[in-house]
Amino acid sequence: MSIKNIATNSVVFNSFSKVLSNYYHNQYGGIILAYHEIAIERFKEHLALFRKHEIVSLSEMVNRKKKKLSTKYLITITVDDCYLNTLPALCDYCSATQIPITFFVPTDFIDGKALPPFIFNNIKKLSKGRKIDINNQLYDFSDEQSCNTFFNSLHDLMYYQSENEYNPIWLQIMHQLVEQGVCQLADFKVHNPPVNWDFIAEKSKNELLSFQSHTVTHQAAAGLSAAQFEMECKQSKQKIESITNKEVTHFCYPYGGLKNIGNTAPAIVQKMYDSAVTMVRGRIQAQQNDYLLPRIPLYDLDTKQRTILKTIIK
Ligand SMILES: [Zn+2]
Repeated sequence: MSIKNIATNSVVFNSFSKVLSNYYHNQYGGIILAYHEIAIERFKEHLALFRKHEIVSLSEMVNRKKKKLSTKYLITITVDDCYLNTLPALCDYCSATQIPITFFVPTDFIDGKALPPFIFNNIKKLSKGRKIDINNQLYDFSDEQSCNTFFNSLHDLMYYQSENEYNPIWLQIMHQLVEQGVCQLADFKVHNPPVNWDFIAEKSKNELLSFQSHTVTHQAAAGLSAAQFEMECKQSKQKIESITNKEVTHFCYPYGGLKNIGNTAPAIVQKMYDSAVTMVRGRIQAQQNDYLLPRIPLYDLDTKQRTILKTIIK
């Protein structure tokens, strides 16, 4: 074979092996599951589907990816927001069965502040059928279509902007609903409660139960200035470390879509964390950015069949 042929063949071989490797990782790359609220029985049902898999910690998954080792048949479990209706049972089950699990903690939420989506949902629910003046324009929310249009754009503000953009509008609506006798200010803060810091301090003593960062205020990174976002990364890390006495090395973006994250956040996270997870659906692949890792979200409504479809278990 001439030198020319060898060169041509190795180019062909390299591109073929690249295609093969991409296919392999798409099909067989590791999976990071993303939970929020989940009933323990459903959680057990999901895990039973991954019998062939090994459940590894988030650090192990990230380390293997960074070393370009195979993540085939590896599963990592992550849980966002730390709800009281979810964590105690999961912690008990994972401790008893020796399963590593990672919880992402929004620190203001644990401090007693409702997460923005709860306040938004309460405002939307309590505004139905009411007339509200917002920035000198009267909105009639008895009309379902205009109500939905308005609240869809208000929802987008929360998803992509900082609270400085949506809070003034929220406050106008909240105060008028109180003036109209619809509700009390406290009604807007009604939410599904989180676990408390004592719980996190106690559970974090177990090496299997890991508590990592999910910002302070749970605002979309895309809406924050670089300085604000960096402060959120730093403060949430410090707070959780002070409670758990363990290093916090993983980060989870609020809302988690690429548009919620924006372009500058990953490089800021990289300054102080080993990895960051998103809500972009996919499996782990060697060439992915360690600060934009995909996950596969699972919910209570994900039956056995739906879970198989979502994860395409081999
Ligand atoms: Zn969250």
